[in-house]
Amino acid sequence: MDFLYIVIYYNHNMKKILFTVLSLILFANTVFALDVVYPTSAYAKINSPTTFFVGMVGIGEKLFLNNEEIPVHRTGAFAQSVKLNPGRNEFVLVSDRETKNYVIERPLLGSNYKPAVFCKYNVPMTVEVSRAGAPLRATAVQEGINRISHFQKGMQLKTIGELGNMYKVELSPTQQAWIAKSDVKMKAEPYEKAFLFDYRERETETDYIYEFALSKRTPYSIAEGGDIMTLKIFNVGANCDNTAVFKVTLNQRLMGYSLEYHGDTLVLKIKKEPNLRRAKKFPLRNIKIVVDAGHGGRELGAVGCCRNYEKDYNLSISKYLEQDLKKMGANVYMTRNYDKFVSLNDRVKYTNEKDAQIFVSIHANSLPDSKNPQKYRGSSAYYYYDEARPLTEAILNSVGRSMNLNIEGVRQASFAVVRNTSAVSVLIETAYVINPDDNELLMNDSFRKQYAQAVADGIKDYVWQNRTRISRHKHKIKFEKIS
Ligand SMILES: [Zn+2]
Repeated sequence: MDFLYIVIYYNHNMKKILFTVLSLILFANTVFALDVVYPTSAYAKINSPTTFFVGMVGIGEKLFLNNEEIPVHRTGAFAQSVKLNPGRNEFVLVSDRETKNYVIERPLLGSNYKPAVFCKYNVPMTVEVSRAGAPLRATAVQEGINRISHFQKGMQLKTIGELGNMYKVELSPTQQAWIAKSDVKMKAEPYEKAFLFDYRERETETDYIYEFALSKRTPYSIAEGGDIMTLKIFNVGANCDNTAVFKVTLNQRLMGYSLEYHGDTLVLKIKKEPNLRRAKKFPLRNIKIVVDAGHGGRELGAVGCCRNYEKDYNLSISKYLEQDLKKMGANVYMTRNYDKFVSLNDRVKYTNEKDAQIFVSIHANSLPDSKNPQKYRGSSAYYYYDEARPLTEAILNSVGRSMNLNIEGVRQASFAVVRNTSAVSVLIETAYVINPDDNELLMNDSFRKQYAQAVADGIKDYVWQNRTRISRHKHKIKFEKIS
């Protein structure tokens, strides 16, 4: 059944059908006997107290792992967690028709890890950002959601010390941050404060625009909380804390914004909410939505128990979502609508070029070695900016209401596609391809169709919820300088 599915799935590509049919004839025996998808080779090095065997056997076959029978799903899929002792671990998998041997090496305990020591400079140094998108971080750790801002090239920062491969940056006498040494170059001249000459506000048909004219590029941060956005511009000589603070009070649903330097002028552009009145029949009319089918082409995404690919399910759900959103009147843009590779950068660029208000990335989930794939099921959804949390919740609530599916919840995570897009951005992990039950769901076309509808309904809920709260004042944004 699974191979029938694959053949149908690829029916847009004759070559692939032929290839699939041929490989079925040629390799049917080995494929059906015992196909281990993970670990990917008979010898593996895995540094984890546990890992798992994921794959499939012929429907109805039994499977033994080191002489113990392990559960096989009705699709033939299996996902079995195993313990790893330090050193060499041997595993023997025996199905009705085939035996496979695995050796997994777990590195021995004891390490030569030495923690880095902070070195404070006697005289502050100047560094300049040398890579676009360089993250400024709240802690000296080069991963996760500790990012404060992302900087363009040419911005100067005042560094007061270093720790490992990070510089410590002084934003103001009371606020410090970190930037990777590899993202900046050292400058010979001493650090000088910037000057804020002027700030202006104007509006166009689509945006509210705030411009801050500075003597040079200087660091900034923006925080969203409820209906208030707080912009801080650091290292400006103006007051005792060297920080200029602006508060923007929103009286509309936030539909994305951008903040970047044009020359030495910092420009904050907040998207206006499109006119939604009289659009009841088409509740998403005037809204631009980018639907992003994760992975594609040579990038398979996660590989499921039945050697089925995440990229295919992402595309299928995304295409249904495109139809559903169009029916609701939205302008929908697809980062890909067939099986091709698209880089993360191109996905972000495309979204920002389209000036979309909403960005939804569709994925299916996998797990690290340390987690048991039998125990993880269902949907989770991710945002990076606080502004996107309500949309993320609305989508996942809708999925929870209409699908008979475990809901893991809404989480904050630093995925490039939700971090670098100026739209309100969400990434959805629909279900786990390496869990046999979820895998079966994802293989089911009507599940994917229903899932897309739930996502579309969630987006509609977000756009329309709390409408009464929003006043009809002409000026929907209040802007003030705090210090
Ligand atoms: Zn993915």
